[in-house]
Amino acid sequence: MMGLYQGPRLLDFAKTPPHLQFNKYVLTGYRPVSTAQECLRSLFYMHNELGNIYTHGIPFLLFLVLLPLSIPWKEVDSTWICVVHYLACLCPTVGSVLYHLFMNHVGGEHVYDTLLSLDMFGVCLVNTLGALPIIYITLLCYPAVQQTALLAYILISAHGIYYATTARTNITRLKAFVWQALFRFVLFLFRVYGNGVGSPNSLRFFIIMDAFAVLGGLVNIIQIPERFSPGLFDNWGNSHQIMHVMVICSIIYLHWGTMEDLNWIKSFQCPTG
Ligand SMILES: [Zn+2]
Repeated sequence: MMGLYQGPRLLDFAKTPPHLQFNKYVLTGYRPVSTAQECLRSLFYMHNELGNIYTHGIPFLLFLVLLPLSIPWKEVDSTWICVVHYLACLCPTVGSVLYHLFMNHVGGEHVYDTLLSLDMFGVCLVNTLGALPIIYITLLCYPAVQQTALLAYILISAHGIYYATTARTNITRLKAFVWQALFRFVLFLFRVYGNGVGSPNSLRFFIIMDAFAVLGGLVNIIQIPERFSPGLFDNWGNSHQIMHVMVICSIIYLHWGTMEDLNWIKSFQCPTG
C-alpha cells in the first residue's frame, strides 16, 4: 500500500510550519503544506501522520459496520440509549481522522486550530454520550433522580467541552475531563455501596475503560518512547499512536460494559414499594 504512490518530498521538523511543530522528538516525515486533495492523496504514501490516520481510520470503519450487529436495538425499552451509545463509539475516531489527515492544509493555523477543536470535541462526545447509558441504567429505579443526573452530566460536559476545545495545552485539555470522571466515580460508588443497579460484571469493564483513557492521555503528554530516541519513532510507534490505540481499547471496553448492562436490564425488575 505504502509504495503505490510516490509522495511529495517530506520536510524535517525545522522546515515545517510552527503550528505543526508540536512534537520536537519527531524529526522527519512532515508533509508539506497541501490542498485538501493533496491531503487525501497522503493516505497512500508514507509520512509521519499516516500511522495516526490509520490507527483511528480502520477502527472507525470496523465500529461503523460491526457495532450495530452487537447492539440489542429492539430488546431495550429506550432505543435512544442504543443510538447514543453507537454515536459515542464512533465520534472520537471521526474527529481524529479529519484532524490528522488535513492538519497541513494550506488554510494554515486557522484550519489547524479548527481541526484540533474538532478532534477534542470527538473525545468530549465519547465521554459525554458514552456515560449517558451508564447513568440511565445505574439510576433506573429512581426515575426522578435519573433525569436530574442525566441533565447534570450534560451540563458538566458542556462546560468540559468548552474547556477542552479552547484549551491551548495538553494539561488543560486533560483537566476538562476531571469533572466528568468524578461524576462517573460517584456513580460507580453508588453501584457498589448504594442502590445503583446494573450488571455486576460491567463495572470492571468501565474501570478498565477509564484506565486506558487516562494512560493514553499520560503517554501523549510525556511523549514516550520518542523522547528517549528522537527520530526513531517518527513514522511508527510514537506516543500519539500509542494513545490512539489506547483510545480504541477504551472504546471497546465501553462497548463491552454497556452491552453487559443492556443485556442485564432485560431481565431486571426494580423492587416495588
Ligand atoms: Zn490524534
